[in-house]
Parts: sequence; C-alpha cells; structure tokens
Amino acid sequence: MNLRQLTIVLPAALLVGCLLAACASKPVQPASPRALTPREFDVVERARQFGLIPVQEAVPGIWVDQRYATTRNITGSPFYPPALPCLIHNDTGAKLARAQQLLAARGYQLKIWDAYRPPESHLFLFKNFGQSGYVHEPGFEGRWSYHCYGRAVDVTLLDPDGQELPMPSGFDDFSDRAWAAYLNGDPKITDRLRTLQSAMMRAGFSLLDREWWHFSDVGSGPLGAPVMAGDLGF
Ligand SMILES: [Zn+2]
Repeated sequence: MNLRQLTIVLPAALLVGCLLAACASKPVQPASPRALTPREFDVVERARQFGLIPVQEAVPGIWVDQRYATTRNITGSPFYPPALPCLIHNDTGAKLARAQQLLAARGYQLKIWDAYRPPESHLFLFKNFGQSGYVHEPGFEGRWSYHCYGRAVDVTLLDPDGQELPMPSGFDDFSDRAWAAYLNGDPKITDRLRTLQSAMMRAGFSLLDREWWHFSDVGSGPLGAPVMAGDLGF
C-alpha cells in the first residue's frame, strides 16, 4: 500500500471501525438452509428469468449469512429488500460449487456474506461509503459492481462444524487488513487465506486487491444490464 492509498484508507478505517465496534458484540448466527416463503418463492421465480438462482440451490450445503439483510453490517441496518433470498448467477454458482468442493477436500466449508446485490442497494452503499474507495462507483469501467449481476461473492471459511475461522479481518473492515495481499503475521491465517484464494481461483474467480473476502467471476462473457430489485418485483 502506498502513501496515497493509506491516506484514503485510514480515515475510512477509523469511521468504519467505530461502526463495526457497534456491531461486533452481536452474535453471528449463520442461517441454515430452509424452505422458501411464498414471497421468496415468487422472487426466485422472477430471478430465474435473469439467470439468477438461490445460492443454496447452486451449492447445496453452503452456509449463508447475508449481512446486508441484517443489522450486522457497516450501516447498522438491513438495507436489502425484505424477502430477498441470497441469489447468484447460475454460471457463477457452478464455479462456486467447484470451489466448495476443493475446500471441502481441505477440511473447510464456505460461508456467503453477499452474492447478488440489487443496484438500488449498491447505490445506497456507494452514497454512504463511496469515499472509502472500497465500494465500486456505478458506471466506473462501464459497469456496476459484479455483485449487481450476481457474478461476485463475498465469502469466508468455516470449520467442519460450521464455526467461523479467524481470517485477516471481519467483513467490510475497510482497513489495510482487508487487502488480499495483507500479511498479518499469523501463519495459520495466512495459510487459510491462501487456501481460500487458491480454491476460488482454480474454480474460475478473480481476486480483488482491496477485499480478501471478495471474488469476481469476470470470465463469463458480456455482463449486459444489471438486475434491478424492480425486476424481481420489489
Ligand atoms: Zn464483494
């Protein structure tokens, strides 16, 4: 990280650190797979028309803790439409299933913090945290965040019992600990991160310099238009 990057990152880290401290005391309770409610079912039916499917359909057994639908995120409030299941593009989901398979062979499980993100929700995030440099500016490089197409995931690792394992930082920790190449001095954490990155890249994902937990599926052809929450009936 150079001096200019530090100048951008540090004030944001201080701000977000305060916000995270407010969230940190709340327990993490990853949701177990369950049947969809009628409202969720309707959303999924609409989503299928855009190539999006529930992530637990793409990757059976995967853990989902969709943070932006809870209070345990940097805003302190849910800002996803209620009854939005965790969705992913079906091509990207196939790659995630491969990554889960590779990680299972190493004794790990994947947990999803975010996958498809409605552009309306991304815009809210950008308006509030865009100055941090960690949130993709809509239209930058001619596209929205890969999340808005269901072609990116934010993930972490669990042990075989479903317990979250120590990683370089928590979710949306906008400090230098979030960088994919950050070395925190703990060889176990470094090894765990390299294992995650290796599995995700072998499955076809790309890393993001600034967020160790973020992986994009950039090789699936033209993105087209992002899928709006309005397209899904919200
Ligand atoms: Zn992400």
